[in-house]
Amino acid sequence: MTTPQAPAPHELAALRQRYRLERERRVRPDGARQYRGTDAEFGYYAADPYTASAERDPLHDTVDVAVIGGGFGGILAGARLRQRGVERIRIVEKGGDFGGTWYWNRYPGVHCDIESHVYLPLLDETGYVPEWKYSPGDEIRRHAVRIARQFTLGPDALFSTTVTSLAWDEASEMWIVTTDRGDAFRARYVVEATGTLTDPKLPGIPGIEDFTGHTFHTSRWDYAYTGGTPEGGMTGLADKRVGIVGTGATGIQVIPMLAEDAEHLYVFQRTPSTVDVRANRRTTAQDVSADSEDWARKRRENYLRIVSGEDVEQDLVADRWTASAGLLEKLHPSFRRPDDRKAFEAAYEVADAAKMNELRARVERSVTDPDTAEKLKPWYRYACKRPTFSDLYYPAFNRSNVTLVDTADTHGVERITESGVMVGGITYELDCLIFATGFSVGASSIGMGKLPVHGRGGVQLLHGWAQEGPRTLHGFTSNGFPNLIQMGPLQSAVSVNFTHVLDEQAVHAAALIAAAEAKTAVIEPSRASEDAWIALLAEDAPDHEWFHAECTPGYYNAEGRGKPNGPTAYPHGAVAFHELLERWRDESMGEVLQARSAPPADV
Ligand code: NDP
Repeated sequence: MTTPQAPAPHELAALRQRYRLERERRVRPDGARQYRGTDAEFGYYAADPYTASAERDPLHDTVDVAVIGGGFGGILAGARLRQRGVERIRIVEKGGDFGGTWYWNRYPGVHCDIESHVYLPLLDETGYVPEWKYSPGDEIRRHAVRIARQFTLGPDALFSTTVTSLAWDEASEMWIVTTDRGDAFRARYVVEATGTLTDPKLPGIPGIEDFTGHTFHTSRWDYAYTGGTPEGGMTGLADKRVGIVGTGATGIQVIPMLAEDAEHLYVFQRTPSTVDVRANRRTTAQDVSADSEDWARKRRENYLRIVSGEDVEQDLVADRWTASAGLLEKLHPSFRRPDDRKAFEAAYEVADAAKMNELRARVERSVTDPDTAEKLKPWYRYACKRPTFSDLYYPAFNRSNVTLVDTADTHGVERITESGVMVGGITYELDCLIFATGFSVGASSIGMGKLPVHGRGGVQLLHGWAQEGPRTLHGFTSNGFPNLIQMGPLQSAVSVNFTHVLDEQAVHAAALIAAAEAKTAVIEPSRASEDAWIALLAEDAPDHEWFHAECTPGYYNAEGRGKPNGPTAYPHGAVAFHELLERWRDESMGEVLQARSAPPADV
């Protein structure tokens, strides 16, 4: 491991200048509008390649809780509700099985880059011990199914089904849930857990529809064409010229696998990622303290504290995330307002430059061709882009069958033709073109306007929000929308270990529902409590816009606009948020429980 060297003042000035130039090479006037969705004529990019949708009759029955989304958010909500004794829980999921992100993303090389012992939820409860420090996607997907099985969430689940609307029925005090499979069932409560980065997006490159070779998005991997499995062995590519667009967290994992198997691989890069040491290894006895029943809970709490910038006695995970924790604060809304801001920013810049120098030195050490190495160096501050980790990525560029094509000067791939990809006037002839171009960014399917919600008096949730901005209490509940609980980052906490946050949210959702059941009440916050919550978020809002404004474009800064993308989150970090929720459940939960007017029977 290299020790980061503190840069001299003149180096800092040169770096600032270089970062500015590199940002200017990439900022585009069309910002986020440069992308196109995978709907309408591009709908085939989002189709489910893993499960055929089975015929079934539409449902018109009644359940206790409808959970929208069968990823970790929905599964955890189901598990925590079961622990509270709730009986009829129906998870509705677009994919053909549980798993969410890990159902869809099965590309070769797929792993979770957060340590498995803190990322995989309910390890203490299921007794499962991950095999690797960083789990392959398949192990994570199987764990999602394991949780669903242990908490009997499968029998009532609806797969290959998308919820199309929610409407509150005042007379029965229930939600009417309609789907794209003709269902119209009732639920006393709805928990929405549809996730944030779910809809694959494509670059709006001119001519994208003209390509006549084979093409797909990484989140819908076409093994029928490539052959092989997530472990590799893609024999179908042995005689193929393959192009891949995108070098984000996904591209970093899949490119070494394609390099192994394709006849020739062209990597079309616009912005290089930071690629830090991975050092994956088998789980050891030290990772899993056999003498503790709740070793996983302790470990993930330790991790959350570290990546939230808090002090701990011991770093149990000890990886490159935790080692860089001081430079991660800007990913979080907990970016504090320092007393001496100038001194804080200066120290921050020095630490940042040392880290980035270390990462650029790693490229030089790993890539033999100096020109290729130069193109792979990231010139921006750490965590302007999602940090990535791999020990296989840079060596892939030493292979004779791999060509790196830098597209920064043309703001990305210039044009796609019938037979290939054009950059700087050169056409690269391809048999197969793969898009590792990420996902549409939004708080949830409700927040993105894909799922209309009609509450009391038929009022549409987003209509109100469009006028006044999002309104919630703690991110979960909204006035006028009783018994609807939203999970996700909106006005809630965020962390790089998102499953931890989701589990705390699931615990909270289950507690709310259990309390409403015990008191024969509906869950609905007053406007005054929403006002107080929103005021708290605004008052203590983090001051990190200056940082994002100087960053290279990406979804963290709304493609270069500067303002951090996404919804406002709780400003004091996930640890404080979880403590706040626990206190509120003990002392104040009654404030959102309103007397029911309709009998809680099936209608
Ligand atoms: P990203 O949005 O991070 O990356 C998209 C890539 O496509 C970028 O390299 C982008 O370049 C490139 N691109 C877009 N348009 C063009 C164009 N016109 N020409 C050339 N290149 C283009 O998507 P990912 O799927 O990589 O990652 C999305 C998120 O998913 C991650 O940020 C992470 O949160 C999550 N993830 C997590 C993993 C984990 O292990 N936990 C693994 C994989 C993903 P540019 O940077 O210049 O915009």
